[in-house]
Amino acid sequence: MKAEMKHFEDFMASADRDIFQKVHDLYAEVNTDRELQPYVDALGVQTLSGAKNHSLLKERNGEIHDVIMLGSNSYFSLTTHPDVVSAAKSACDQYGYGMGAVSLYAGKSDLHYQLEKKIANFYGTEDAILLPSGYATNVGVISALCGPGDVIINDAFNHASIFDGCRLSGAEIKVYLHGNMKHLEKILRQLSGSSKGRLIVTDGVFSMDGDLAPLDKITELAARYGARVMVDDAHGLGVVGPSGRGTAEQFGVMEKIDIQVGMLSKAPGALGGYCAGSSALITYLRYYARTYFFSTSLPAPIVAGLLEVFKLFSEDRAGRGRLWENIRRLLEGLQALGFNCGQSQSAIIPVFVNDEMKLTRLCNELRQNGIYTNLVSYPAVRRKECRLRLCVTSALTEDDINKILTVFEELGRKYELI
Ligand code: PMP
Repeated sequence: MKAEMKHFEDFMASADRDIFQKVHDLYAEVNTDRELQPYVDALGVQTLSGAKNHSLLKERNGEIHDVIMLGSNSYFSLTTHPDVVSAAKSACDQYGYGMGAVSLYAGKSDLHYQLEKKIANFYGTEDAILLPSGYATNVGVISALCGPGDVIINDAFNHASIFDGCRLSGAEIKVYLHGNMKHLEKILRQLSGSSKGRLIVTDGVFSMDGDLAPLDKITELAARYGARVMVDDAHGLGVVGPSGRGTAEQFGVMEKIDIQVGMLSKAPGALGGYCAGSSALITYLRYYARTYFFSTSLPAPIVAGLLEVFKLFSEDRAGRGRLWENIRRLLEGLQALGFNCGQSQSAIIPVFVNDEMKLTRLCNELRQNGIYTNLVSYPAVRRKECRLRLCVTSALTEDDINKILTVFEELGRKYELI
Protein backbone atom coordinates (compact mmCIF):
# COMPACT_ATOMS: atom_id res chain seq x y z
CA MET A 1 0.00 0.00 0.00
CA LYS A 2 1.51 3.34 -1.03
CA ALA A 3 1.37 6.26 1.37
CA GLU A 4 -0.32 8.54 -1.17
CA MET A 5 -3.31 7.25 -3.07
CA LYS A 6 -4.86 9.11 -5.95
CA HIS A 7 -8.13 10.91 -5.26
CA PHE A 8 -11.01 11.85 -7.49
CA GLU A 9 -10.42 15.57 -7.06
CA ASP A 10 -6.87 15.17 -8.39
CA PHE A 11 -8.52 15.21 -11.80
CA MET A 12 -10.55 18.36 -11.29
CA ALA A 13 -8.14 21.29 -11.32
CA SER A 14 -6.36 21.46 -14.63
CA ALA A 15 -4.94 24.15 -16.82
CA ASP A 16 -5.10 22.00 -19.95
CA ARG A 17 -6.16 23.64 -23.17
CA ASP A 18 -8.63 20.84 -23.73
CA ILE A 19 -11.36 20.69 -21.09
CA PHE A 20 -11.65 16.96 -21.84
CA GLN A 21 -8.05 16.18 -20.80
CA LYS A 22 -9.09 15.57 -17.17
CA VAL A 23 -12.00 13.49 -18.40
CA HIS A 24 -9.68 11.12 -20.22
CA ASP A 25 -7.14 11.10 -17.37
CA LEU A 26 -9.79 10.07 -14.85
CA TYR A 27 -11.24 7.47 -17.19
CA ALA A 28 -7.82 5.86 -17.66
CA GLU A 29 -7.18 5.89 -13.93
CA VAL A 30 -10.55 4.43 -12.99
CA ASN A 31 -10.09 1.61 -15.45
CA THR A 32 -6.49 0.74 -14.71
CA ASP A 33 -5.30 2.00 -11.35
CA ARG A 34 -5.32 -0.68 -8.68
CA GLU A 35 -5.35 1.76 -5.80
CA LEU A 36 -8.62 3.37 -6.83
CA GLN A 37 -10.34 0.04 -7.42
CA PRO A 38 -11.67 -0.60 -3.91
CA TYR A 39 -13.23 2.86 -4.00
CA VAL A 40 -14.71 2.33 -7.44
CA ASP A 41 -16.03 -1.09 -6.32
CA ALA A 42 -17.63 0.37 -3.18
CA LEU A 43 -19.40 3.06 -5.19
CA GLY A 44 -20.38 0.82 -8.07
CA VAL A 45 -22.88 -1.71 -6.73
CA GLN A 46 -26.30 -2.21 -8.30
CA THR A 47 -29.38 -2.80 -6.16
CA LEU A 48 -31.65 -5.52 -7.49
CA SER A 49 -34.54 -5.11 -5.05
CA GLY A 50 -36.36 -2.40 -3.08
CA ALA A 51 -34.83 -1.44 0.25
CA LYS A 52 -36.22 -3.24 3.30
CA ASN A 53 -34.06 -4.68 6.05
CA HIS A 54 -32.35 -6.76 3.36
CA SER A 55 -31.53 -6.00 -0.29
CA LEU A 56 -30.07 -7.92 -3.19
CA LEU A 57 -26.94 -6.25 -4.52
CA LYS A 58 -24.88 -6.93 -7.61
CA GLU A 59 -21.18 -6.20 -7.31
CA ARG A 60 -19.08 -4.82 -10.17
CA ASN A 61 -17.57 -8.28 -10.60
CA GLY A 62 -21.06 -9.75 -11.09
CA GLU A 63 -21.34 -11.40 -7.66
CA ILE A 64 -24.76 -11.09 -6.05
CA HIS A 65 -25.04 -10.55 -2.30
CA ASP A 66 -28.06 -10.61 -0.03
CA VAL A 67 -27.11 -7.85 2.41
CA ILE A 68 -28.52 -6.25 5.51
CA MET A 69 -29.25 -2.76 4.20
CA LEU A 70 -27.70 0.06 6.24
CA GLY A 71 -27.42 2.45 3.33
CA SER A 72 -31.02 3.47 2.72
CA ASN A 73 -32.44 6.78 3.92
CA SER A 74 -35.89 5.22 3.68
CA TYR A 75 -35.89 4.82 7.46
CA PHE A 76 -39.31 3.16 7.56
CA SER A 77 -38.93 1.25 4.26
CA LEU A 78 -41.79 3.29 2.85
CA THR A 79 -40.27 2.80 -0.61
CA THR A 80 -41.85 -0.65 -0.48
CA HIS A 81 -44.82 -0.04 1.85
CA PRO A 82 -47.90 -1.77 0.31
CA ASP A 83 -50.28 1.23 0.74
CA VAL A 84 -47.74 3.61 -0.75
CA VAL A 85 -46.91 1.37 -3.69
CA SER A 86 -50.56 0.65 -4.38
CA ALA A 87 -51.46 4.39 -4.40
CA ALA A 88 -48.58 5.04 -6.80
CA LYS A 89 -49.74 2.26 -9.13
CA SER A 90 -53.32 3.59 -9.30
CA ALA A 91 -52.08 7.12 -9.98
CA CYS A 92 -49.89 5.77 -12.76
CA ASP A 93 -53.01 4.36 -14.44
CA GLN A 94 -54.89 7.64 -14.09
CA TYR A 95 -52.19 10.27 -14.75
CA GLY A 96 -49.36 8.39 -16.48
CA TYR A 97 -45.85 8.11 -15.11
CA GLY A 98 -44.70 11.70 -15.60
CA MET A 99 -46.24 15.16 -15.72
CA GLY A 100 -44.66 16.44 -18.92
CA ALA A 101 -44.67 20.07 -17.77
CA VAL A 102 -43.47 22.40 -15.04
CA SER A 103 -45.81 23.13 -12.14
CA LEU A 104 -46.83 26.58 -13.33
CA TYR A 105 -47.96 25.20 -16.67
CA ALA A 106 -49.74 21.86 -16.90
CA GLY A 107 -47.49 19.94 -14.49
CA LYS A 108 -49.54 20.27 -11.30
CA SER A 109 -52.28 17.73 -10.71
CA ASP A 110 -54.98 17.82 -8.05
CA LEU A 111 -52.74 15.38 -6.14
CA HIS A 112 -49.92 17.94 -6.07
CA TYR A 113 -52.32 20.50 -4.56
CA GLN A 114 -53.44 17.98 -1.95
CA LEU A 115 -49.89 17.08 -1.01
CA GLU A 116 -48.86 20.72 -0.59
CA LYS A 117 -51.86 21.25 1.71
CA LYS A 118 -51.04 18.11 3.66
CA ILE A 119 -47.43 19.15 4.20
CA ALA A 120 -48.51 22.64 5.30
CA ASN A 121 -50.98 21.08 7.78
CA PHE A 122 -48.28 18.75 9.05
CA TYR A 123 -46.10 21.72 10.00
CA GLY A 124 -48.95 24.06 10.96
CA THR A 125 -47.94 26.55 8.27
CA GLU A 126 -50.17 28.41 5.82
CA ASP A 127 -48.79 26.82 2.67
CA ALA A 128 -46.08 24.63 1.16
CA ILE A 129 -44.43 24.23 -2.23
CA LEU A 130 -43.20 21.00 -3.82
CA LEU A 131 -39.96 20.96 -5.80
CA PRO A 132 -38.48 18.28 -8.05
CA SER A 133 -35.65 17.22 -5.70
CA GLY A 134 -34.19 18.03 -2.32
CA TYR A 135 -31.14 19.48 -4.00
CA ALA A 136 -33.31 21.70 -6.18
CA THR A 137 -35.26 22.81 -3.10
CA ASN A 138 -32.25 24.21 -1.28
CA VAL A 139 -30.79 25.78 -4.39
CA GLY A 140 -34.12 27.27 -5.47
CA VAL A 141 -35.28 28.59 -2.10
CA ILE A 142 -31.98 30.18 -1.08
CA SER A 143 -31.23 31.75 -4.44
CA ALA A 144 -34.77 33.12 -4.69
CA LEU A 145 -34.66 34.79 -1.29
CA CYS A 146 -31.09 36.06 -1.06
CA GLY A 147 -28.95 38.09 -3.39
CA PRO A 148 -25.95 40.40 -3.56
CA GLY A 149 -26.04 42.65 -0.49
CA ASP A 150 -27.44 39.92 1.78
CA VAL A 151 -25.45 37.62 4.04
CA ILE A 152 -26.10 33.91 4.58
CA ILE A 153 -24.64 32.33 7.69
CA ASN A 154 -24.06 28.58 7.45
CA ASP A 155 -23.10 25.76 9.75
CA ALA A 156 -19.84 24.34 8.35
CA PHE A 157 -21.43 20.89 8.00
CA ASN A 158 -24.46 22.02 5.98
CA HIS A 159 -25.39 19.95 2.95
CA ALA A 160 -23.67 20.71 -0.37
CA SER A 161 -26.96 21.83 -1.94
CA ILE A 162 -27.25 24.60 0.67
CA PHE A 163 -23.79 25.88 -0.17
CA ASP A 164 -24.55 25.66 -3.88
CA GLY A 165 -27.74 27.68 -3.35
CA CYS A 166 -25.74 30.26 -1.41
CA ARG A 167 -23.17 30.54 -4.20
CA LEU A 168 -25.83 30.90 -6.86
CA SER A 169 -27.59 33.62 -4.87
CA GLY A 170 -24.59 35.95 -5.02
CA ALA A 171 -25.02 36.78 -1.32
CA GLU A 172 -22.05 36.99 1.02
CA ILE A 173 -21.42 33.57 2.60
CA LYS A 174 -20.26 33.18 6.18
CA VAL A 175 -19.58 29.87 7.89
CA TYR A 176 -19.56 29.07 11.61
CA LEU A 177 -17.81 26.09 13.16
CA HIS A 178 -20.12 23.09 13.30
CA GLY A 179 -22.73 23.52 16.04
CA ASN A 180 -20.67 26.30 17.65
CA MET A 181 -23.09 28.93 18.95
CA LYS A 182 -20.32 31.20 20.24
CA HIS A 183 -18.92 31.39 16.74
CA LEU A 184 -22.37 31.99 15.24
CA GLU A 185 -22.96 34.81 17.70
CA LYS A 186 -19.56 36.34 16.96
CA ILE A 187 -20.44 36.47 13.25
CA LEU A 188 -23.87 37.98 13.99
CA ARG A 189 -22.36 40.56 16.35
CA GLN A 190 -19.90 41.65 13.69
CA LEU A 191 -22.86 42.28 11.39
CA SER A 192 -24.55 44.59 13.89
CA GLY A 193 -25.23 47.95 12.35
CA SER A 194 -24.99 46.69 8.77
CA SER A 195 -28.19 46.86 6.75
CA LYS A 196 -27.69 43.50 5.08
CA GLY A 197 -30.49 40.96 4.94
CA ARG A 198 -29.48 38.04 7.14
CA LEU A 199 -30.33 34.37 6.83
CA ILE A 200 -29.05 31.61 9.10
CA VAL A 201 -29.24 28.22 7.39
CA THR A 202 -28.70 24.87 9.02
CA ASP A 203 -29.38 21.20 8.51
CA GLY A 204 -31.75 19.98 11.25
CA VAL A 205 -30.09 16.56 11.40
CA PHE A 206 -26.58 16.69 9.95
CA SER A 207 -26.50 14.20 7.13
CA MET A 208 -23.03 12.75 7.68
CA ASP A 209 -22.89 12.92 11.47
CA GLY A 210 -26.45 12.33 12.60
CA ASP A 211 -26.31 15.04 15.27
CA LEU A 212 -28.89 17.82 15.67
CA ALA A 213 -28.59 21.57 15.19
CA PRO A 214 -29.38 23.37 18.49
CA LEU A 215 -32.40 25.15 17.02
CA ASP A 216 -33.48 26.59 20.37
CA LYS A 217 -30.24 28.56 20.55
CA ILE A 218 -30.13 29.36 16.84
CA THR A 219 -33.65 30.83 16.85
CA GLU A 220 -32.82 32.83 19.98
CA LEU A 221 -29.71 34.32 18.35
CA ALA A 222 -31.64 34.98 15.16
CA ALA A 223 -34.28 36.94 17.08
CA ARG A 224 -31.62 38.91 18.93
CA TYR A 225 -29.66 39.84 15.81
CA GLY A 226 -32.51 40.26 13.35
CA ALA A 227 -31.86 37.22 11.13
CA ARG A 228 -34.25 34.80 9.45
CA VAL A 229 -33.85 31.06 10.01
CA MET A 230 -34.01 28.30 7.42
CA VAL A 231 -33.84 24.62 8.43
CA ASP A 232 -33.19 21.76 6.02
CA ASP A 233 -34.67 18.87 7.97
CA ALA A 234 -34.08 16.18 5.33
CA HIS A 235 -33.22 13.54 7.93
CA GLY A 236 -35.39 14.84 10.78
CA LEU A 237 -38.76 14.41 9.07
CA GLY A 238 -40.65 11.44 10.46
CA VAL A 239 -37.78 10.46 12.74
CA VAL A 240 -36.99 13.26 15.21
CA GLY A 241 -39.32 15.08 17.62
CA PRO A 242 -42.12 13.83 19.89
CA SER A 243 -44.43 13.24 16.90
CA GLY A 244 -41.87 12.98 14.10
CA ARG A 245 -42.23 16.56 12.92
CA GLY A 246 -38.51 16.99 13.02
CA THR A 247 -35.73 18.88 14.72
CA ALA A 248 -37.69 22.09 15.31
CA GLU A 249 -40.35 20.06 17.12
CA GLN A 250 -37.65 18.35 19.20
CA PHE A 251 -36.48 21.78 20.41
CA GLY A 252 -40.00 23.21 20.75
CA VAL A 253 -39.41 26.00 18.23
CA MET A 254 -41.58 25.05 15.23
CA GLU A 255 -43.25 28.44 15.03
CA LYS A 256 -39.88 30.22 15.10
CA ILE A 257 -38.59 28.68 11.89
CA ASP A 258 -39.12 31.09 9.00
CA ILE A 259 -38.30 28.61 6.24
CA GLN A 260 -38.91 24.92 6.88
CA VAL A 261 -37.39 22.77 4.17
CA GLY A 262 -37.53 19.00 3.93
CA MET A 263 -36.86 16.21 1.51
CA LEU A 264 -39.24 13.59 0.17
CA SER A 265 -36.29 11.35 -0.62
CA LYS A 266 -35.34 10.26 2.91
CA ALA A 267 -37.96 8.92 5.36
CA PRO A 268 -40.75 9.38 2.75
CA GLY A 269 -38.71 7.09 0.51
CA ALA A 270 -39.42 8.78 -2.82
CA LEU A 271 -38.03 11.89 -4.44
CA GLY A 272 -38.54 15.62 -4.24
CA GLY A 273 -38.41 18.39 -1.69
CA TYR A 274 -40.67 21.00 -0.15
CA CYS A 275 -40.66 24.28 1.64
CA ALA A 276 -43.37 25.07 4.21
CA GLY A 277 -44.06 28.60 5.44
CA SER A 278 -46.36 31.60 5.22
CA SER A 279 -48.65 32.04 2.21
CA ALA A 280 -46.64 35.10 1.24
CA LEU A 281 -43.34 33.22 1.30
CA ILE A 282 -44.66 30.27 -0.69
CA THR A 283 -46.34 32.51 -3.26
CA TYR A 284 -43.06 34.36 -3.74
CA LEU A 285 -41.18 31.09 -4.20
CA ARG A 286 -43.61 29.90 -6.87
CA TYR A 287 -42.50 32.78 -9.09
CA TYR A 288 -38.88 33.25 -8.05
CA ALA A 289 -37.45 29.80 -7.19
CA ARG A 290 -35.94 28.98 -10.55
CA THR A 291 -35.70 25.26 -9.80
CA TYR A 292 -39.52 25.32 -9.44
CA PHE A 293 -40.31 27.70 -12.26
CA PHE A 294 -38.04 26.04 -14.82
CA SER A 295 -38.12 22.37 -13.80
CA THR A 296 -40.71 19.67 -14.47
CA SER A 297 -42.86 18.74 -11.49
CA LEU A 298 -42.84 15.45 -9.59
CA PRO A 299 -44.62 12.54 -11.31
CA ALA A 300 -48.17 11.98 -10.05
CA PRO A 301 -47.48 8.37 -8.93
CA ILE A 302 -44.76 9.68 -6.61
CA VAL A 303 -47.12 12.35 -5.29
CA ALA A 304 -49.88 9.78 -4.73
CA GLY A 305 -47.45 7.59 -2.77
CA LEU A 306 -46.38 10.63 -0.74
CA LEU A 307 -50.00 11.40 0.19
CA GLU A 308 -50.08 7.96 1.83
CA VAL A 309 -46.73 8.64 3.49
CA PHE A 310 -47.95 11.91 5.03
CA LYS A 311 -51.09 10.17 6.20
CA LEU A 312 -48.85 7.71 8.07
CA PHE A 313 -46.67 10.54 9.42
CA SER A 314 -49.63 12.70 10.49
CA GLU A 315 -51.11 9.77 12.42
CA ASP A 316 -47.61 8.81 13.68
CA ARG A 317 -48.05 5.30 12.27
CA ALA A 318 -44.84 4.94 10.23
CA GLY A 319 -43.05 2.94 12.94
CA ARG A 320 -41.09 5.54 14.91
CA GLY A 321 -41.10 3.51 18.14
CA ARG A 322 -39.55 0.52 16.42
CA LEU A 323 -37.02 2.71 14.60
CA TRP A 324 -35.81 4.30 17.83
CA GLU A 325 -35.51 0.88 19.51
CA ASN A 326 -33.26 -0.19 16.64
CA ILE A 327 -31.25 3.02 16.75
CA ARG A 328 -30.59 2.60 20.46
CA ARG A 329 -29.75 -1.07 20.19
CA LEU A 330 -27.30 -0.59 17.32
CA LEU A 331 -25.68 2.60 18.61
CA GLU A 332 -25.21 1.26 22.13
CA GLY A 333 -23.91 -2.05 20.74
CA LEU A 334 -21.32 -0.34 18.53
CA GLN A 335 -20.24 2.01 21.31
CA ALA A 336 -19.92 -0.89 23.75
CA LEU A 337 -17.59 -2.60 21.26
CA GLY A 338 -15.45 0.55 21.26
CA PHE A 339 -16.34 2.14 17.90
CA ASN A 340 -16.27 5.92 17.61
CA CYS A 341 -19.80 6.88 16.55
CA GLY A 342 -19.47 10.62 17.12
CA GLN A 343 -22.50 12.42 18.56
CA SER A 344 -25.31 10.68 16.68
CA GLN A 345 -28.85 11.59 17.83
CA SER A 346 -30.81 10.26 14.87
CA ALA A 347 -31.11 7.30 12.48
CA ILE A 348 -27.70 8.18 11.00
CA ILE A 349 -24.77 6.58 12.81
CA PRO A 350 -21.26 7.42 11.65
CA VAL A 351 -18.46 4.94 12.40
CA PHE A 352 -15.22 6.85 12.13
CA VAL A 353 -12.34 5.13 10.36
CA ASN A 354 -10.20 8.21 9.50
CA ASP A 355 -8.09 6.38 6.91
CA GLU A 356 -9.48 6.26 3.41
CA MET A 357 -7.67 3.15 2.22
CA LYS A 358 -8.77 1.24 5.31
CA LEU A 359 -12.30 2.57 4.92
CA THR A 360 -12.74 1.39 1.33
CA ARG A 361 -11.41 -2.08 2.11
CA LEU A 362 -13.54 -2.38 5.23
CA CYS A 363 -16.63 -1.23 3.38
CA ASN A 364 -16.09 -3.85 0.66
CA GLU A 365 -15.41 -6.59 3.18
CA LEU A 366 -18.58 -5.72 5.06
CA ARG A 367 -20.58 -6.33 1.88
CA GLN A 368 -18.87 -9.65 1.35
CA ASN A 369 -20.01 -10.47 4.88
CA GLY A 370 -23.59 -9.48 4.13
CA ILE A 371 -23.74 -5.86 5.33
CA TYR A 372 -24.10 -2.76 3.15
CA THR A 373 -23.06 0.62 4.57
CA ASN A 374 -22.31 3.94 2.88
CA LEU A 375 -18.70 4.94 2.44
CA VAL A 376 -18.23 8.63 3.23
CA SER A 377 -15.12 10.61 2.42
CA TYR A 378 -14.17 13.80 0.60
CA PRO A 379 -15.98 15.85 -0.70
CA ALA A 380 -18.84 14.92 1.68
CA VAL A 381 -16.55 15.18 4.73
CA ARG A 382 -12.90 15.99 5.39
CA ARG A 383 -10.71 13.10 4.26
CA LYS A 384 -9.19 12.68 7.73
CA GLU A 385 -12.70 12.26 9.12
CA CYS A 386 -13.78 9.61 6.61
CA ARG A 387 -16.24 7.09 7.93
CA LEU A 388 -18.85 4.45 7.39
CA ARG A 389 -22.34 5.89 7.53
CA LEU A 390 -24.99 3.55 8.88
CA CYS A 391 -28.66 4.32 8.29
CA VAL A 392 -30.86 2.50 10.75
CA THR A 393 -34.32 1.40 9.63
CA SER A 394 -37.40 0.25 11.50
CA ALA A 395 -37.35 -2.95 9.42
CA LEU A 396 -34.15 -4.31 10.99
CA THR A 397 -34.84 -7.35 13.16
CA GLU A 398 -33.08 -8.32 16.37
CA ASP A 399 -31.23 -11.02 14.41
CA ASP A 400 -30.08 -8.43 11.87
CA ILE A 401 -28.71 -6.20 14.60
CA ASN A 402 -26.98 -9.12 16.32
CA LYS A 403 -25.36 -10.08 13.02
CA ILE A 404 -24.26 -6.49 12.36
CA LEU A 405 -22.62 -6.31 15.77
CA THR A 406 -20.90 -9.69 15.34
CA VAL A 407 -19.46 -8.77 11.94
CA PHE A 408 -18.47 -5.28 13.10
CA GLU A 409 -16.67 -6.77 16.08
CA GLU A 410 -14.69 -9.16 13.89
CA LEU A 411 -13.79 -6.59 11.21
CA GLY A 412 -13.32 -3.80 13.73
CA ARG A 413 -10.54 -5.83 15.34
CA LYS A 414 -9.05 -6.79 11.98
CA TYR A 415 -8.92 -3.13 10.91
CA GLU A 416 -7.77 -2.01 14.36
CA LEU A 417 -10.74 0.26 15.00
CA ILE A 418 -11.53 -1.25 18.39
N1 PMP B 1 -30.15 18.12 2.24
C1 PMP B 1 -29.66 17.13 2.99
C2 PMP B 1 -29.37 17.39 4.43
C3 PMP B 1 -29.43 15.86 2.42
O1 PMP B 1 -28.90 14.88 3.17
C4 PMP B 1 -29.74 15.65 1.07
C5 PMP B 1 -29.56 14.27 0.43
N2 PMP B 1 -28.27 13.95 0.07
C6 PMP B 1 -30.25 16.71 0.31
C7 PMP B 1 -30.44 17.93 0.94
C8 PMP B 1 -30.58 16.56 -1.14
O2 PMP B 1 -31.77 15.85 -1.25
P1 PMP B 1 -32.15 14.99 -2.55
O3 PMP B 1 -31.30 13.76 -2.49
O4 PMP B 1 -33.58 14.72 -2.35
O5 PMP B 1 -31.87 15.84 -3.74
